[in-house]
Amino acid sequence: MDGRERRLHEVRAALGRLQFQQYAEKRPQPGMAELEAEQAAIQQDPAVAEAVAAWQGRDPGDPLLGRRVELWARSLRRAAVDGSPDVLRLRRELADDVVSARYDVGGREVDLGAVRDALRKEPDAEARRRAWLSYGALSRRVDGRLRELMRLRNARARAVGASGYVELALGHAGLLRDQVEATLRRLCAATDGAFTGLLDGRRVAPWDVGYLLEGQAAPPAGRFPRAEMLPRLHAWARQHGLDPDRSGISIHFIDIPYNGLSMPIDPPRDVRVLLNPGDGHLYYKLLWHEYGHALHATGNRQATAVLRQEPPVFNEAMAESLAFFTLEPDWVAAFGASPAEAEATIRAGLGAWLLWLRTRSAHALFEYGAYDDPDGDLDGAYAAAEARYLGCDEDPAPRWAANAWFTSYPVYWQNYVLGDVIAAQIHAAMRAQVGPVNGNPAAIAFLREQFWAPGGSVDWQVKVERATGRPLDAEDLIARLAAT
Ligand SMILES: [Zn+2]
Repeated sequence: MDGRERRLHEVRAALGRLQFQQYAEKRPQPGMAELEAEQAAIQQDPAVAEAVAAWQGRDPGDPLLGRRVELWARSLRRAAVDGSPDVLRLRRELADDVVSARYDVGGREVDLGAVRDALRKEPDAEARRRAWLSYGALSRRVDGRLRELMRLRNARARAVGASGYVELALGHAGLLRDQVEATLRRLCAATDGAFTGLLDGRRVAPWDVGYLLEGQAAPPAGRFPRAEMLPRLHAWARQHGLDPDRSGISIHFIDIPYNGLSMPIDPPRDVRVLLNPGDGHLYYKLLWHEYGHALHATGNRQATAVLRQEPPVFNEAMAESLAFFTLEPDWVAAFGASPAEAEATIRAGLGAWLLWLRTRSAHALFEYGAYDDPDGDLDGAYAAAEARYLGCDEDPAPRWAANAWFTSYPVYWQNYVLGDVIAAQIHAAMRAQVGPVNGNPAAIAFLREQFWAPGGSVDWQVKVERATGRPLDAEDLIARLAAT
């Protein structure tokens, strides 16, 4: 295991450097496919599988070694599904199609960013409708193959003893499907009133929701210029006992296809944050989010690759635990805003936040249903989920298969929502224990000692319960949204 994990660390570091080059130079880097294949081979190594099977359930006399055996067992199961050659091949083929896709908006070929931008900012409703419909061509093109990929994932998951792919993927993070569904539904039901209130009780078309809640309502960007982001972040970090000059974290403003990305290339020595920010509070929040990922990676004190890793749902929670600092009025007031302006800035972000949570909940719940019945009417089911959670009319125009996450990051959407659920519970407990969190080094020390340093040596749900005094639930997030 030692040898395999050392090699896994090296392979991931080499792969990370090439991925960074790919983003920086905007062209494919030779050698990536070989490294990906080696990573998959290590994760399915028969010699390790044999050793893990022999040791599982036995006491190796060392709790950390026992934990490593348990984590390897989980990882081997997941790799047998996601790393199986037919799943890998079909996924790569679909991902190439989805990533390189162009979208036809009223006779003009545009990229995905332009489609999303139009849905947020285009004042003409007919132009927004055309942008919304432009997902159709890609969705129709990949629909059949994506259903095939879902059937394959289900079949491989059943072959390793899970009841289906959704259950396997959630189980990898220690989550039960019933529990996740109940949490997402509870959160949406608890915010229904606030959400319809923001839409003034109107029924709107699906291409209106983003425009009304994100485009029109955003707080003024002038107070949060892009040019001041890094000095602001570094000053904030120093106030909290961090040393940004010797942190191992570098921040790069690069034009990437995502809003932001944190790459733990060779932690704790080399973690890179990639960001393509504009002006505005939302971009500052995003920088704090990515910096949260980076601190989580550099603050991890575990020595081996498997103990350093944590499931994506908890990685998102750690990122949001830093982003939540920017949702405090005193954080905004430090930019020269009066208390009333600071409150107004936080309040103005509520529509976008609720929309973010509800869109992700709708996509997650739709996806679970799609794995239950990959032959069903998925365009209809996608429209029904959006109508329910976004309060819009139901329009079954083909779009679902153009959602790149279903191909490349399957069963991932709930992680964003649960990340906020976890971060809200952590912040409530942290405030109760250390007082106001901004300008308070004890808050960062709390995150480091309770969560970053132990890494995967302690199960994330155990860490949350120990630090907050109760198992995870959505009540703190609901209270926070209600207060906003
Ligand atoms: Zn993130």
